[in-house]
Amino acid sequence: MAIHIKNGIVIDPKNKIKAEKMDLFIKDGKIVDEKAVKKEECQVIDATNKLVVAGGVDMHAHIAGSKINTGRTMRPEEMRVVRRVADTFRAAVGRVLLTAPAIGYEYAKMGYTVSFEAAQPPIGALHTHEELDAIPMIDKAALPVFGNWHLVFKFVEEKNIEKLKAFIAWAIERTKGFGVKAVNPGGVEAWMYGKNVRSLDDQVPGFNITPREIITSLIQATEELKLPHSVHLHCNNLGVPGNYQTTIETIKLASKFSNSKRQVLHVTHVQFNSYAGSSWRDAASGAAEIAKVVNSIDNVTIDMGQPIFGHATAMTGDAPFQFTLHRLTGAKWSNKDSEVEGGAGIVPLVYLPNNPVHALQWAIGLELGLLIDSNKVVLTTDYPNGGPFTEYPYVMAMLMSRKMREKELQKVSPYVQKATGLAAIDKEKTLEELIHMTRSLPAKILGLENKGHLGIGADADVAIYDLNPLDVDTSNEFEKVYKALKTAVYTIKGGEIIVKNGELVKEVWGRTYWVDARSKVDLEAVMPDIENYFQYYSIELQNYGVEESWIRMPERIVVG
Ligand SMILES: [Zn+2]
Repeated sequence: MAIHIKNGIVIDPKNKIKAEKMDLFIKDGKIVDEKAVKKEECQVIDATNKLVVAGGVDMHAHIAGSKINTGRTMRPEEMRVVRRVADTFRAAVGRVLLTAPAIGYEYAKMGYTVSFEAAQPPIGALHTHEELDAIPMIDKAALPVFGNWHLVFKFVEEKNIEKLKAFIAWAIERTKGFGVKAVNPGGVEAWMYGKNVRSLDDQVPGFNITPREIITSLIQATEELKLPHSVHLHCNNLGVPGNYQTTIETIKLASKFSNSKRQVLHVTHVQFNSYAGSSWRDAASGAAEIAKVVNSIDNVTIDMGQPIFGHATAMTGDAPFQFTLHRLTGAKWSNKDSEVEGGAGIVPLVYLPNNPVHALQWAIGLELGLLIDSNKVVLTTDYPNGGPFTEYPYVMAMLMSRKMREKELQKVSPYVQKATGLAAIDKEKTLEELIHMTRSLPAKILGLENKGHLGIGADADVAIYDLNPLDVDTSNEFEKVYKALKTAVYTIKGGEIIVKNGELVKEVWGRTYWVDARSKVDLEAVMPDIENYFQYYSIELQNYGVEESWIRMPERIVVG
């Protein structure tokens, strides 16, 4: 069935459409030209005075795999929150750590149609994909973690970029992954000895390499392989006062590389890496300094990692950080080791407005969102680390309204006034900038050409909100903006209406993207090394990995 979206007010930053009244046409899952459809056969959606945008793209969230499952086990209280869905839909349960169906449903209700699992332990890839397959409504992908994998260390130590490239291509195919994620490079290996790395030039125990060498080698390999997405980096020293300097030093590593299409380094959830000061007693914001550097470098992008007050669960491949967090909060703690590949940790927590550290983190996230050029910063909460993705509209409204920020500042610890510059920032981002930060920008950073925009040929993933961009005053009407963006009037996924008036009306299954770069490398040259390493694994090489046919709706993106 073809769809005619009539009289909507379209914002489509990629195609330079700034709040224009226009019609859109959908056929066979794509945005098409008016001439490609017979109007009398179209289902008509009256979007008069409503905002029409591409479906949201969440480029960094934790939605599937062993971490979120361990988190669910550690928070049985979550299962008391039952979300209302019609009888035809599956059980949607959870406050922050939602069940797999609920993740798809809640994204859809908010007008989001893509979400990337940002840290897939390679040996756990099958589990990750089984769970991604249980999430309806959205397109998905997973980023396997490389920053502490012994085989990466070996090739970095040998300065053998060709073997590193071949290994990455092999690993991405085996894990049906999308790109190269690195978490605290070298630090998780140091954690196996009860330690961490503290600077880019610390030695990684057992190897003659440093975090600096791991990061630059991974960037070089990723760029030479021409993967759609750049290296996606969780920096060293996450969660440590004074860490903003390590973050700046890391960002500057990108200046040696260039790519005409996209950034060469995406630094994720930067809020957790933007602390000045020497301890939690004198911690302050380093966001302004980081913003200056990001704004001055062309080939780096970031996402916010915005904390939301209320329940959250920290879960990262950064195992030593999670131990630190457990010591700081006294909360329950879980730690995982994934053989010779890395590790992870989980700590359930609650962000409290009157806690000076939590309020500082909240303010820093907003500072990053406000001070960094909207072409370089993506809105995320690093779900569920900073809080639920369902509160993205809160962050959107906050970035657009100084008045809302002033109101919210009244509720938080006064430490924020002393330790951050948030209160003095009068910048108010526009609705168009926020649509870019949640759609066209993340799609561009991930290299997804058919996502995040509404041009002819784009996937027909569309969100319609009860908000007239020609009429709304985003500075003053922040409550209206928040409410409108929270629940879409319509969400269309791949040309099918899945949400109507904020209610789910149809369950659909999105695709799982994975990247195949094998034709760009000499796999034979690296296989003996890989085979040799499997003596240290608990499983045989032939049992390692995920076949494409095991995935519900795979979409292979071939490189080269
Ligand atoms: Zn994350």
